[in-house]
Amino acid sequence: MKKVTAIVAGGAGFIGSHLCLRLLELGRRVIAIDNLSTGNIDNLNQIQWNPNFELVISDIVNPINITMPVQEIYNMACPASPLKYQSNPIETFRTSTIGSYNLLEFARHHNSRILLASTSEVYGDSLKSPQTEDYFGNVNPIGIRSCYDEGKRGAESLFADYNRCYGVDTRIVRIFNTYGPRMMSDDGRVIPSFINQALHGEPLTINGDGSQTRAFMFIDDLIDALMLMMRDGVTHMPVNLGNPTEITINSLASIIIDATGSKSWTSYRPMPSDDPRKRCPDISRARSELCGWSPRVSLSEGLENTINYFRKLHYDTVH
Ligand code: NAD
Ligand code: UDP
Repeated sequence: MKKVTAIVAGGAGFIGSHLCLRLLELGRRVIAIDNLSTGNIDNLNQIQWNPNFELVISDIVNPINITMPVQEIYNMACPASPLKYQSNPIETFRTSTIGSYNLLEFARHHNSRILLASTSEVYGDSLKSPQTEDYFGNVNPIGIRSCYDEGKRGAESLFADYNRCYGVDTRIVRIFNTYGPRMMSDDGRVIPSFINQALHGEPLTINGDGSQTRAFMFIDDLIDALMLMMRDGVTHMPVNLGNPTEITINSLASIIIDATGSKSWTSYRPMPSDDPRKRCPDISRARSELCGWSPRVSLSEGLENTINYFRKLHYDTVH
């Protein structure tokens, strides 16, 4: 039987590299496209010599230059850390919009199924909690987060119209805060930042008063869900993917200090603008669409796994 070929745009990033590995384990041929802006070739160490894997270093804002038939496309390309996406906001917006357009054009001409990694950020500073997919959100269209939030909203709009106008077989997932090994130490997102600060005995930098909430999902649970999303018969409507256990950033800091056995303390700094106060997914649609999928890894297990990863990285760097 002929192998299914998958493109993973953003394949050298945190989520993309885990996705490439899983697709290869399932017997796919995988082509990762990445401009290495926030990704890292080291993330691909386990798979770079696999004969079914190829990395194309390229930017998706340019038309996709692949000629072979492709059955599945995963659009994971876009910096996800607020620190990173705000450092080059125009490129962030172009990546989500023009990049999605190029991948959709490719999918249309090659008859590929295509998935968009959208985000809980489409809900902005939500006035509703937990967030359901029918909530249209509360996004500042000109704020410092809008390059990301509005870029993803634009990408969702393109995906919906390519499905309506051309019948392209689209999937949209709205991913809530996901963490795990292979996030970069200097990524700026809260979990890698707090773990590395705790391991180095530095203060954990809490933005605002730390009462804002997030709900954190371990990477393995997300990859399971992405596999299920690409089956036949799954909806073209957006699907929230996240772990609905909501905690405050203050609690997260205490849990990480305890779990690392660190003597670190917390320090407070001003809240960045438009930082959502509450975020928690309603995953009823995912449960019903994805054969009863729900996250299985608890925060304590996932953090232990991620802390071990950063401890080893730190040890390997020092020795
Ligand atoms: P990441 O920054 O680790 O990975 C993004 C990858 O995309 C990197 O390898 C980067 O080099 C690549 N990339 C960026 N712009 C590109 C371009 N123009 N052309 C080609 N490659 C490009 O981020 P991540 O956490 O792995 O996120 C992956 C996707 O999932 C993103 O689209 C993000 O918006 C989405 N997402 C992630 C989370 C999360 O919590 N991790 C939450 C919501 C949505
Ligand atoms: N945050 C923090 N300290 C940090 C990094 C982040 O207090 O060093 C806060 C941030 O302001 C937000 C939450 O942690 O309220 C989650 O931030 P992250 O950047 O991980 O993702 P976001 O959900 O904001 O996209």
